[in-house]
Amino acid sequence: MRYERVKGTRDVLPREALARRELEKLVHDKFSRAGFFPILPPTFEKYELYQHSTGEASDIVIKEMYRFADMGGRDLALRPEGTPSVMRAILENHLKIPIRLWYSMTMFRQDKPQKGRYREHTQIGAEIVGEAEPEADVELIKLGYDLFTEMGIEGMYLELNTIGCRECRPGYTEKLTRFLTEHQKELCEDCKLRTQRNPLRVFDCKVASCQEVLKSAPSQREHLCQGCKEHFDAVKKGLGRFSIPFGENERMVRGLDYYSRTVIEFKSTLLGAQDTLCGGGRYDYLAEELGGPPTPATGFAFGIERALLTSRGEDIFEFSGASIPLLVLPLGDKAQAYALELIFKLRQAGISVQAEFRSGGLSRKLKRADARNAERVLIIGEDEIAKARFILRDMHTGEQKEMTFEELLSLHELKGHSLLTNGED
Ligand code: AMP
Repeated sequence: MRYERVKGTRDVLPREALARRELEKLVHDKFSRAGFFPILPPTFEKYELYQHSTGEASDIVIKEMYRFADMGGRDLALRPEGTPSVMRAILENHLKIPIRLWYSMTMFRQDKPQKGRYREHTQIGAEIVGEAEPEADVELIKLGYDLFTEMGIEGMYLELNTIGCRECRPGYTEKLTRFLTEHQKELCEDCKLRTQRNPLRVFDCKVASCQEVLKSAPSQREHLCQGCKEHFDAVKKGLGRFSIPFGENERMVRGLDYYSRTVIEFKSTLLGAQDTLCGGGRYDYLAEELGGPPTPATGFAFGIERALLTSRGEDIFEFSGASIPLLVLPLGDKAQAYALELIFKLRQAGISVQAEFRSGGLSRKLKRADARNAERVLIIGEDEIAKARFILRDMHTGEQKEMTFEELLSLHELKGHSLLTNGED
């Protein structure tokens, strides 16, 4: 019986797994200098947490959650996004606010799989908790912008919007609901539901007839309170000061319930239908929703898969083996034991090395070295052990040299090898 992976899941093969490590290291370096600490909440939580924070009317909660009962009958869900867990963890562990946290975690969503959309994916996210000022929004956006630029994300652009606050949103929502109710007949079934549950979400609808109706929908801009206006203006000014290009998109509301004021999306023209690389915004009321004190916050998260797709291209996902910089070929029992010790000594000196322990004579071992894509081999027989001189053979040219352990250590080309040495790294 051969098994296949579950629909919508992926095998992260070595080339991509290495790129992910590098990316996490880059984020760690960049974000720890800005005061962010890593955090790792559990992979599953009580279903209620997401229902309360992500939102009962959000697509994630309605259609995409991996919800399950454990053997104790608890109502649980696999994590579909990071922010609710992070905020719960801050409150539950009484972490001192203000605090800045970043994470790299797998997320689970039962959406229709397609390129760039999987049922298990990984997000890197950053949250600034306890800072209400527009400077925090700008700082976070700039951190993201610099990170994506450094990663070489292609075709990137930033969209910005504000969705108001407790003061001004209700008035706008009322007006929008009235408008949508008048146009019920022209709306799709989902938007009819949204009209009642969460009218702002109609702007996320991709159905052309709904988009047509929305062209004449009332604008939120005209309903912003003074505080929201000033906050939004300050964010835009801040981005301008850093020369970060952005476009205002009044229709962008983000799919989750907890956002307030600033919402952002970094997109890439390279991504096709799933064009959002990174989404985020301010969520000043989430802490209170989860039973904590008033705690303003802002954050974003981006998908690693989409980030790699846009910065490294498709071939990062393939892997059919890498070359071996140095392969030791021991000949005979005594040499096998000797080689086992030698490879550890060489590794300690910073050399990437493996040994071919499968039995056989020199010609068989050389064939295997070729098949394993070895760049160089070190031949060790009883004679070589006795003389403490080994034969180094270049597998490309066939050239052979005798050398001592010390000479081997000083060979520059054996140092600082990356794991992937197929010429491209
Ligand atoms: P969201 O919480 O939906 O704003 O997602 C944040 C980011 O995670 C998106 O911009 C994507 O880069 C990534 N993402 C979200 N859902 C998926 C998915 N199903 N598969 C792959 N990446 C995803």
